Amino acid sequence: MTVPIAKLSFWGVRGSTPTVDPATWRYGGNTPCLELIAPDGTQFILDCGTGLRMLGSRWAAPNGGKTPETHIFVTHYHWDHIQGIPFFSPLYVENNEFHFYSFRSKFLGRDSLKQVFEAQMALPYFPVDMSAMNAKRKFKEVDGGDSFTIRESKITARWLNHPQGCLGFRIETPAGTIAYATDNEPGDPKLDANLRELAAGADIFINDAQFTPEQLATTRKGWGHSSWREGVRVAREAGAKTLVLFHHDPDSTDRMVDSLLKQAREEFDSVFAASEGMVITLGGAGDGVQAHMPGTRTALRREAQFHAKVCGLTEGGKQFEEETMVRDLSLQGALISLKHLPQLQSELQVTMDAPGPDGVQEMKLRGYVVRIDAGAEKGHVAVGVVFTD
Ligand SMILES: [Zn+2]
Ligand SMILES: [Zn+2]
Repeated sequence: MTVPIAKLSFWGVRGSTPTVDPATWRYGGNTPCLELIAPDGTQFILDCGTGLRMLGSRWAAPNGGKTPETHIFVTHYHWDHIQGIPFFSPLYVENNEFHFYSFRSKFLGRDSLKQVFEAQMALPYFPVDMSAMNAKRKFKEVDGGDSFTIRESKITARWLNHPQGCLGFRIETPAGTIAYATDNEPGDPKLDANLRELAAGADIFINDAQFTPEQLATTRKGWGHSSWREGVRVAREAGAKTLVLFHHDPDSTDRMVDSLLKQAREEFDSVFAASEGMVITLGGAGDGVQAHMPGTRTALRREAQFHAKVCGLTEGGKQFEEETMVRDLSLQGALISLKHLPQLQSELQVTMDAPGPDGVQEMKLRGYVVRIDAGAEKGHVAVGVVFTD
């Protein structure tokens, strides 16, 4: 018997509006879009932010073309969750079939999402009209409280606290459960209970973490968003296993997101900050979740042999220091062979001997762990880092 595996990919993680500021490249600037491939091959897409364009440009027919249908859940109609639709190229291909699920907005009435499509593609906002969209499109209205199944997966929708409404979705697959709760603010007892219901025992709980706890209590109160501290609180109360901080503020630089993640990790065991290109696998061997960050940019890589001293924290949170060689150095990052297993998305200090005009000098760099693979040498892991300054 094969073990069921589900794969969750993050194509867009930024809230409110896309960012192209270089200070935000590491977590990414595209607005919300997630893709989940269930163990039975069913493809789900969560939200249609600008990340959807990237997913479309790397499109592979779901389930090897055997079941070419895709199920798309749209949480609400704010710009950052619908903006990718006109730029999603698979919508223009005849053989594709899309099932859209969203709620009836009181501002739009019947066929709300269909109206959103038409409005986005109306002249003069977009150069081609709806008739160019050749894929089959089916629209289904869902309401908070609804539960239904799509092949082997069970879906539950619940209302969350957000201006003009937002749905949270819980997807239970044979490999594990994902709760997707973007755009929500704590403070409404009934909707707070909904959020806990979605997150109950989930393997992956993706929650809005746009603001700092301080902002949420003061200047950003009532804006419809949450913080890492609320995410930790809900994860604990609901027994969720892994928390993913999501919907990063467009004004949050990578350094600021690093700091939110660090604080959350001090309070809860398993936390990641959503980053563009991150893939989480559920199920499989050891039944835990496996996360992979996007690799370093490879274009500028050079083979190298630098002697280095590496300091950091292990998975178990212990300090370590180790002498090693750095191979494969690029301007953005390096691949380092280590005996210790550092934590993914943690910081390493890498001190290297670099030849300079006055002989060999020490070069100190701050590295951020983006990937960990089996090492070429026995007992070693290959650790990919990007340099953050
Ligand atoms: Zn949003
Ligand atoms: Zn919103």
